[in-house]
Amino acid sequence: MPVGEVGGEGMASRPAGSAAPDAPSRDLDSGDQGSAALLSASGLCSGYGRVTVLRGVDLAVRTGEFVAVIGANGAGKTTLLRTISGILRPSAGRLAFEGRDLARVPAHRIPALGIAHVPEGRQIFPQLSVRENLLLGAYLHRDRGHREARMAFVLDLFPRLHERLRQAGGTLSGGEQQMLAVGRALMLEPRLLMLDEPSQGLAPRVAGELYEKLREIHTLGTTIVLVEQNITAALRHADRAYVLEHGRVVLEGSTAELEGNDEIRRAYLGV
Ligand code: ATP
Repeated sequence: MPVGEVGGEGMASRPAGSAAPDAPSRDLDSGDQGSAALLSASGLCSGYGRVTVLRGVDLAVRTGEFVAVIGANGAGKTTLLRTISGILRPSAGRLAFEGRDLARVPAHRIPALGIAHVPEGRQIFPQLSVRENLLLGAYLHRDRGHREARMAFVLDLFPRLHERLRQAGGTLSGGEQQMLAVGRALMLEPRLLMLDEPSQGLAPRVAGELYEKLREIHTLGTTIVLVEQNITAALRHADRAYVLEHGRVVLEGSTAELEGNDEIRRAYLGV
């Protein structure tokens, strides 16, 4: 679908190839509206061995934003989050967090910068209790008082986890496990919270509850980057979105603008 050929007022469409790695990149560190970007990528390429998946991604996320990255299966959404969190290294282009080149930061140091990644499939520790799972997310906080303060914050946000504190993580429902995965990421006290398909496998009502929590987390001051195949939910809850196709950003804009875009509605919302 030629999403790159569509767009509307206020939206930036990008014809395929317009963000090629060798193309001159704009100054993404300064963000689209002039304020400093917390996270910025320009001409970002990444993949698996010889398989290139991201083919020149340009994006910028400002402090306090709630940004969604949407796209079809295999577009490269998970690969983008893995590259930001250092699991994969960029093969070309620039990736910066608060102006710092992430390609030069070893993967194990990236959480200390304030980047938390809730991976696809949650990946909680099923044998460990809810409390133990949460404490693992606070491994960087040496001060016990700080850890307990974070615990109190997370349990206040997710009372259901509070009720199940001593229960093994693997015995929780799917929705509760996802809350645990988000709670564990929040224990880090991240500046940037990245979530990969958090509503995957959840009943619509449970997914709705989770999204309400994400909005609350955002309102409380955490910048969020959300990858979703549930495009309706992503557009409803995020403020701005990027559309990824074949490893490139083909369209970006406010979620309200994208929701009203005919091509997006036909291709992704089925209306
Ligand atoms: P989905 O929503 O289906 O997860 P996605 O947009 O998140 O899609 P990615 O998971 O980033 O897409 O995958 C992008 C491409 O990278 C796909 O073609 C996929 O087959 C390929 N890929 C993913 N993981 C690996 C891997 N470990 N080795 C080789 N190729 C991979």
